[in-house]
Amino acid sequence: MPGAPETARAGTVSLDFLGDLRRTHHCGELRASDAGRRALLMGWVHRRRDLGGVIFVHLRDREGVTQVVFHENLDPEVHRKAESLRLEYVIAVEGRVEKRSPETVNPNIPTGEIELVAEKLWILNDSRTPPFPLEDAVEVSEEVRLKHRFVDLRRPRMQRNIMLRSRVSFAVREFLTSQGFLEIETPFMTRSTPEGARDFLVPSRLQPGCFYALPQSPQLFKQLLMVSGMDKYFQIVRCFRDEDLRADRQPEFTQIDLEMSFCQQERIFEVIEPMLVKVCEVAGYRIRTPFPRLSYEEAMRRYGTDKPDLRVPPMHAVGDLFPAGALAADGWPLMAIHLPGVGALSRRERDELKAFGAERGLRVYDDLKRLEREFPQAMDGLRARVGYAPEDLLLLASWAGVPQGQRPLETVLSACGQLRMHAAQKYNERHRLLDPREFRFLWVTDFPMFEWDEQEQRWTAAHHPFTSPHDEDLDKLTSDPASCRAKSYDLVLNGIELGSGSIRIHRRDVQARVFDALGFTREEAERRFGFLLEALEYGAPPHGGIALGLDRLVMILAGEGTIRDVIAFPKTSRGADLMCEAPSPVPEQQLRELGITLLRR
Ligand code: ASP
Repeated sequence: MPGAPETARAGTVSLDFLGDLRRTHHCGELRASDAGRRALLMGWVHRRRDLGGVIFVHLRDREGVTQVVFHENLDPEVHRKAESLRLEYVIAVEGRVEKRSPETVNPNIPTGEIELVAEKLWILNDSRTPPFPLEDAVEVSEEVRLKHRFVDLRRPRMQRNIMLRSRVSFAVREFLTSQGFLEIETPFMTRSTPEGARDFLVPSRLQPGCFYALPQSPQLFKQLLMVSGMDKYFQIVRCFRDEDLRADRQPEFTQIDLEMSFCQQERIFEVIEPMLVKVCEVAGYRIRTPFPRLSYEEAMRRYGTDKPDLRVPPMHAVGDLFPAGALAADGWPLMAIHLPGVGALSRRERDELKAFGAERGLRVYDDLKRLEREFPQAMDGLRARVGYAPEDLLLLASWAGVPQGQRPLETVLSACGQLRMHAAQKYNERHRLLDPREFRFLWVTDFPMFEWDEQEQRWTAAHHPFTSPHDEDLDKLTSDPASCRAKSYDLVLNGIELGSGSIRIHRRDVQARVFDALGFTREEAERRFGFLLEALEYGAPPHGGIALGLDRLVMILAGEGTIRDVIAFPKTSRGADLMCEAPSPVPEQQLRELGITLLRR
């Protein structure tokens, strides 16, 4: 129905005052059962169709759209006023709700059975022509959308996303509060917390040369709250990480952050699972609990990743079925990747998969007929093991050479896992395994305590340095760091890491040993985390927690592909706010006050 773009002649319409007008309904509310009632609606002109004697206006607010009709023969003056309406004008209309005739019913909107026959019209504001049509399916660059975010957010889809986000936050608050959690704010102006990213710094004017860091997470504060006896804490909190913005990251993002005293991993799961049941309910989904669990080691072995997407079948180790050394170097795995229902691949498609594998160090066997000829018995066993049917895709992969690194087996499995997901995504159209409405939650537990940093040639904390090692691994912290497991867990949803947490170290001696293992000198540990070490000396209870990414959670529930579509005012991948043009230079005077001189302007 949208006609040619209309140009608002600002200043040419006379505007009315709101006075004491009050809405009786919102624009998504009226139904056939309201026919005969009077109603007063307010909103934006979403669409407009002028048929001469009759003008139709789709009036929109965040709840929906109602059709309003202006009949010339009912009131010529109101009709004339309606002629001046243009897209996005803000109006109030009062009139009678009438049932539409059967052939004009619009089954696509909840108010589609009625219309409001306008008797009075107030024009509360005019509008410039919007920079793009405010329809859901509009094709416009994200840059233009972000620059005019205040208009972009009016699109019904964005309004749904932001409303869903609000309902999710409320469900979280309601649930956690009902479980005895206290919502406690922690400082934004603080000092660096190690979550592995760079800090955003805020210069101090009162202490020139000193800086606050914006928190990468409230990690230390929430632990200190446990030392303070607060028992159960939560916060829906903004976190800041100055990373090179890969893919779908934001420099500021929101976490559902919580911490509990006297708890084991099990207790954390007992809180998070029913909370997510509620949250999914809010979005109209029912999920089942308990969530399945895999140890890190199992996840790597079966999926080649610590964030398995359970909608795609696992890999199988099949080296034992083939003669030693035939398809994989001795001692290294031969993995079968099996995707049901893909159908036959063309030569080119198979070559592409092989090339993808080769780039990651794999040798990929895709010629089943040849394998059949050479290893008939092994292939029988293989088909039985993976549950193969003729229309399935089956690939075998092994490492082409000798894998390197601190954890070489993981290198091989991870490459195979990438090939598995690459094929699954590439051929999703054919097998439809990756259904965005299917939610497969998963706990991944028992991560390694340490990761080897190739660049710095040292061990770093896989989660963060306050994570507790398994009790039985305490003695191996320095002698065999590679084999230490942590009491840590990730929550994964459809291959996306939704959150992570751990049981913390609550004893000073253990914390000091972990700092040792990480290569912090005593002085460095004291300088950076002296307050935490001291707090641990004052009766710190055993405690643990988790943080879930709210942006990602809402993104998945809303069926969106990027977190920018569920954040009201997101930044671009270069960290810029295009609307208010941040970051921006500041006047010399402001820098002088802070004792800052720039090397380059
Ligand atoms: N602070 C951690 C993070 O932001 C989460 C946690 O351990 O609770 O990833």
